[in-house]
Amino acid sequence: LPKLPVFEAISKHDPESTVVIHSKSGRRFQYGELLGDVAKARDRLYESAGREDLDGERIAFLAENSYDYVANFTFPTHRQIHEADSVVQVTLLAILGAKSIAVPMSPAFPASELQYILNHSEALMLLATGKFASKAQEVLKTELDVQPTFLQLDKLQGGGPHEKVTLDKSSPGSAGMMLYTSGTTNRPKGVLIPQAAMTAQARSLIQAWEYAPSDHLLHLLPLHHIHGTINAIFTPLFTGSSIEFLYPFNADAVWKRLAAPFTTTPPPDQPKITFLTAVPTIYSRLLSSFKTLPEDLQEPAREAISPAHLRLTISGSAALPTPIKRAWADLSKGNILLERFGMTEVGMALSCGLDPNDRVDGSVGWPLPGVEARLVDVDTHQVIEKGQEKDLETGRERVGEIQLRGPTIFAEYWRNEEATKKEFVEGKDGRGSWFKTGDVAVRRPGPEKAGRSEMKTQREWARGDMYFILGRKSADIIKSGGEKVSALEVEREMLSLPQVAEVAVLAVPSGKWGQKVGAVVILDREHCKEGKWSPLEMRRALKERLAGYKIPQVLRVVDHIPRNAMGKINKKVLVKEVFREEFS
Ligand code: ATP
Ligand code: MG
Repeated sequence: LPKLPVFEAISKHDPESTVVIHSKSGRRFQYGELLGDVAKARDRLYESAGREDLDGERIAFLAENSYDYVANFTFPTHRQIHEADSVVQVTLLAILGAKSIAVPMSPAFPASELQYILNHSEALMLLATGKFASKAQEVLKTELDVQPTFLQLDKLQGGGPHEKVTLDKSSPGSAGMMLYTSGTTNRPKGVLIPQAAMTAQARSLIQAWEYAPSDHLLHLLPLHHIHGTINAIFTPLFTGSSIEFLYPFNADAVWKRLAAPFTTTPPPDQPKITFLTAVPTIYSRLLSSFKTLPEDLQEPAREAISPAHLRLTISGSAALPTPIKRAWADLSKGNILLERFGMTEVGMALSCGLDPNDRVDGSVGWPLPGVEARLVDVDTHQVIEKGQEKDLETGRERVGEIQLRGPTIFAEYWRNEEATKKEFVEGKDGRGSWFKTGDVAVRRPGPEKAGRSEMKTQREWARGDMYFILGRKSADIIKSGGEKVSALEVEREMLSLPQVAEVAVLAVPSGKWGQKVGAVVILDREHCKEGKWSPLEMRRALKERLAGYKIPQVLRVVDHIPRNAMGKINKKVLVKEVFREEFS
């Protein structure tokens, strides 16, 4: 295997310690077997390619959340299919080991979406674990611009228009990942992340969140996004932490697993979970399913998520509603969710701190180690320097776009030079260009330091002023009659009303105001029983919390708000569906 930092780190871990556990079957894999399996899988890639020079080639794969995804393991079902000559086993690390670019795809995607990714990434190979062999074959039957090979590379050799990529930032070779964005605002973009950036992201998180060999992560996330891949696989591999896969997400199963070590007869093979990272919808679903847990599980479950045992509970990928944060703290005997902000393009960028006092409601914290952040005023396009966060004339907070730079940033949008060019601005200090996140925020000083200095660990990274995300420039900033309204702020306030279970606040076109504030609401069943609800009443309640121009002018009640795999809402689509007549 090439000398990648991740392989070097793995080779130093205690070979007998656990790297992966499959929650359902209890199957366990050790660090000691990992690199051997990776090397074997890598060799199989070479074999099927008929050559060893796969630098920079894209290799797409479909794998369940399992050891197979991380490394390689032959289950009996694999063998059968392997004998039928129809499948190659795969892994993230094996692809990196071949100095190629891993393109993990979601098995939940329909064939058309997989086809889009295969075409767009110009993958040399499509690999699938046994369970997804038929799905992979189905995709290959559909028309592809470039036919990726499925253990049949030899037949195509010499023909493919594959272009090798050289990732200038990476060394050695061109290993890396190509992740597709969540597609919340548009067609997913292919984000090329050099191995060096992946490593920088992992190192930054280790410093900030102090991953340790004693950490046992419960992994509940899809594996084709940065959150599930970097934060919950790649990074723990560096520190020798163990990863337990429980997927697909099932709230009851999660509670059962969390509680197991704290029951009167704890199973010997289920270590307590110390680290959990998830998206707000997962916490919300856990909170509601807790109510229906069998009584004898409730206390063990609460104990399991208390700060004494679950040392870190992280939320991100979408804004964390304050009621969820509060309810989680109550249930868990004071475990306060740590919110952070990240993107496919940059990995994690901003994060609250390990000190619970720094987990301020509504804030995503300050720049992670190695990440440089700045706010650029959305009106004046000037950098908002420290101390200039308020407009001197109006006294209002200045709203700026978050821009980032540093070694964690991606290389380019694959096959989209225009977007790559558009999203970077040259820095005036000659120290590299800034990536425009498209997310806007305000910045405020953090809470007073009093009484918290002793809690600081030596490794705690420099604490900075705190960022509060207002939303996406393109979809969450509603321009109504010359005022700017943050959809996220309105959502946050609406969610704190007991009547509201879920909400999306959107910009609805308006002849009079340009745009008006619209809200799509799912009512809380408990609180809205017996018709105890009216839009008027809700407006009245909101008046106490929000300036008049921020209160939704149009409001629709629905049963369902569509979200993608990461719990995000495509507002452009939703607004046209719900407020169809306003667009005519
Ligand atoms: P696409 O770029 O295809 O439209 P996407 O931006 O949702 O999709 P991701 O890269 O998965 O794809 O998500 C990054 C975005 O998620 C950020 O730009 C930001 O809008 C949002 N986000 C992530 N963390 C948070 C957070 N803690 N609070 C609010 N928003 C967040
Ligand atoms: Mg995006």
